[in-house]
Parts: sequence; structure tokens; C-alpha cells
Amino acid sequence: MEECIFCKIVAGEINSNIVYEDDKVIAFKDINPEAPIHHLIIPKKHIPTLLDLQEDDKELIGHIYLVASKIAQDEGIAEDGFRVVSNCNEAGGQSVYHIHYHLLGGRNLQWPPG
Ligand code: IMP
Repeated sequence: MEECIFCKIVAGEINSNIVYEDDKVIAFKDINPEAPIHHLIIPKKHIPTLLDLQEDDKELIGHIYLVASKIAQDEGIAEDGFRVVSNCNEAGGQSVYHIHYHLLGGRNLQWPPG
């Protein structure tokens, strides 16, 4: 996936502010933050969209949520509350086609999003 910007971040070919990394996932600061805390949690494996998930990915996606919980607690936003959201395809607001989970917090988030 040579042209995937998030694969390049995983490979260390593009600079990013990494806040968490293990063998399966990486989390880094969003370059255009929408909240005081806005991180992206992504699998290291290239999966374009939520629609491409397979049975074998179940554990990976569960792991991403556990990582989100850990980061939220480490960042001190867990008690007040935070949001984990993943956009799918154009009308869903997806702009990078490597599945990712936005972790947002540090302010009162509005619902529904625009
Ligand atoms: P999407 O619009 O839900 O696909 O989210 C993509 C996110 O990636 C946006 O919030 C962008 O600000 C963010 N983004 C794009 N390129 C980079 C980068 O190089 N580093 C960090 N965040 C990025």
C-alpha cells in the first residue's frame, strides 16, 4: 500500500506524534485536532474501510477499543468522557482509506456530529 499515508506513518516514513504503539496498532496525534485530545488509533495492517473487515479481524478491533480505553485513562479524559468514532466512505466523512478510530476528548462534545 505504497500510497497510503497511514501505512507510511506505520513504516516511519512520515513523521507523527505517536502516543501508543504495540505489535498490532499505533496511535498518534491527529494533525488537525478537533478537540484538546484528538488521537487516531489504527491497525498496522492495511484495511481500507470498515466494510473490508473480516472475521479474522474481530480480535484486532476489540484490541483497538482496549487501547482507546487505556489512552483515554492515560490522558486523563476518561472520567469526564470521550468519544471513539470511525468514519466510513465519503458520506460518512472518511478521507483516509486506512481504517482508523478517532479518540476525542478534553471538551464537551456535541451530538449529533455534523
Ligand atoms: P477521516 O476524515 O475520518 O478519514 O480522518 C482522517 C484524519 O486523519 C483527519 O482527522 C486528518 O486530520 C488526519 N490526518 C491526515 N493526515 C495525517 C497525518 O499525516 N498525521 C496525522 N493525522 C493526519
